[in-house]
Amino acid sequence: MSEIIIYLISSLFWGICVNLPLLFLIMWKKYLTIPKGVIIGAITAILCFIISPILWVCVLCFFLSSSFLSKWKQSEKHEVNLEFAKSSQRDSVQVISNSFPAIFFGILYLIFENFPRIILGEEISLGIQSHFLFAAFTTIATHTADTWMTEIGIIYGKNPRLLINLKKKVNPGTSGGVTIEGTIAGMIGAAIISFVYVVSSLFTTSISPLKILLLSILLCISGIIGGGIDSLEGATIQRIYYCKQCKKESETNPHKCGNIPYFLRGYSFVTNDFVNLSSAFLSGIIAIVCYSFVEILI
Ligand SMILES: [Zn+2]
Repeated sequence: MSEIIIYLISSLFWGICVNLPLLFLIMWKKYLTIPKGVIIGAITAILCFIISPILWVCVLCFFLSSSFLSKWKQSEKHEVNLEFAKSSQRDSVQVISNSFPAIFFGILYLIFENFPRIILGEEISLGIQSHFLFAAFTTIATHTADTWMTEIGIIYGKNPRLLINLKKKVNPGTSGGVTIEGTIAGMIGAAIISFVYVVSSLFTTSISPLKILLLSILLCISGIIGGGIDSLEGATIQRIYYCKQCKKESETNPHKCGNIPYFLRGYSFVTNDFVNLSSAFLSGIIAIVCYSFVEILI
């Protein structure tokens, strides 16, 4: 037991050390709301570091790239941001919905796979020789794919269509809307998380390069599927209102015009944050199944 306490205290110490300078960068760039977003963001970053420094690197890749994309070409996205009440600054609820699935699977990894190794005096795996850690990586790939899909799709996407009915045109930024350009960007986003995984695993684990390659492909595909689930939920179960005054569908209540829209479809509890959270959980479960198949095959 004392080994686990020593492991946790040393991880906590290094977690605080590496995250402190980042916190100043985040506050300076106004990537998170102050103080709630910053406090939750700091706790999240330290927890991810304690779970696995490689997971922390992936979370950092997701967070910094997504925050940069959200602030990028803001004048061109102004109308869409106003329509969907989107802000380039993430709040505490968004931080929780983006990080909770990874932390959930990561804590399962610590309890069921890493702590028993520490007790037995075995080598701690920093990479992803673990079902649960692989699922945690996948949730980050899902969020990255989803954010890149949305942000790039709004700027460069032509003719956004509804995922469940590709003949139906929708406004840029609509939940469940897809574009070819956004989809390609989402694939690149998931591939970047997968690339971080490959590089870090090659240096930190003893598993075969073939297995790492196979898992990285699965990680990328699971992340893209997760991004797809996010769009599917956005098109089917997410709550949507309709503003009579503007004759437009709305995700916000009240609408940007100040009018109270009426409930059009979806479930009242299914917000955009709920969609982000549930699609990441589902992609994590898919990843665990995929990992199990690879374990059997190789
Ligand atoms: Zn309106």
